[in-house]
Amino acid sequence: MNQQMPKNLLGLDLQELAAMVVAAGEPAYRAQQIFHALYSERVPSLDQATSLSKEFRAALGAAGVSVGMPSIQKRFLSSDGTVRYLIELSDSETVETVWMPEGDEGETGDGSEAGEELAREGFERPPRGWRRTTICVSSQVGCAVNCQFCLTALLGVKRNLTAGEIVGQVIAVLRDQNVSPPNDRVNLVFMGMGEPFLNFENFIKAVRLLVAGVGITESRMTVSTAGIVPRIYDLAAEPVRPKLAISLNAPNDDLRTQIMPLNKKWDLEKLIAAAREFPLRNRERLTFEYVLLREINDSESHGRELAELIHGLKAKVNLIALNPGPGIEFKTPEELRVLEFQKTLTNAGVPAYIRRPRGRDIYAACGQLKRTVEVAS
Ligand code: SF4
Repeated sequence: MNQQMPKNLLGLDLQELAAMVVAAGEPAYRAQQIFHALYSERVPSLDQATSLSKEFRAALGAAGVSVGMPSIQKRFLSSDGTVRYLIELSDSETVETVWMPEGDEGETGDGSEAGEELAREGFERPPRGWRRTTICVSSQVGCAVNCQFCLTALLGVKRNLTAGEIVGQVIAVLRDQNVSPPNDRVNLVFMGMGEPFLNFENFIKAVRLLVAGVGITESRMTVSTAGIVPRIYDLAAEPVRPKLAISLNAPNDDLRTQIMPLNKKWDLEKLIAAAREFPLRNRERLTFEYVLLREINDSESHGRELAELIHGLKAKVNLIALNPGPGIEFKTPEELRVLEFQKTLTNAGVPAYIRRPRGRDIYAACGQLKRTVEVAS
């Protein structure tokens, strides 16, 4: 084998695997075998890729090629069943990935989203024992965006994840939970550590591998952006893409710039214009996420202003009462305030759902992901 061999296989697409096997002097069909072993069988090491000949596995190993599966360093189990995984990458950096049985953050309001989805699929109500599971995936080590209500922001950004590391997180958790798409239904939300649109190429390559290899359909994936406007247009042009969520959090520029400094670069006019131009598929709608901060963005007039801002868009709003954390100066609003805010939106014709926090006790809820070591210190 020559020296052009990749170190890690995870993250390579079929074309790249084909180039590798040809360079190794192997027949081209081997690429399909490796692709299947990596993404469908989800083998953790080459030894277990028994569809490949022993000789070929040994030759790959001798050339320093391995699967490159990230390892689970720690698990934190919440009283609500959520598991926060600390995942270690090959350079010893860590990211967090969250497993949320029975939905991402849950929803209350005028009928759950899960119920709506089932209704579209022909069920009148969730069948007995019905479950859905969501994995929240990280895209960077830390984050550079600096949203003022977010624990991850306190880390700054260390580096982008590779496509293999993004896919590897999902596979490590699927293996740990003994869950196997496409037979088991799994939703993915790219809402963990990092801003996916600041690592767009690796993120979108991971999406393609998760769809074509792992077997999770794109309609079960959602990516959330803090508002990197040019990448919203890029996502719109992708033939295979997740649904789009925009982390909005304020109904006017003054307030948004205060809590999300990136609004200076891409203000609400630009952001909402991109949202209005985003081509929605059949039955798809946009999501706006709105973290409610006590006495900052949670008044009735903020609610009315928000309804006006997104008027006419095929969209829903997910309301998240701030998940508190050390070093965050904002406070969580009272439950009644959250309900009133929801009512202001629904009265204005905007579907709004309250997300129940998941795993707040283990710092796994929205905006709380931060490397455990630093939370503990
Ligand atoms: S909310 Fe998201 S985009 Fe904003 S700092 Fe936190 S991880 Fe980054």
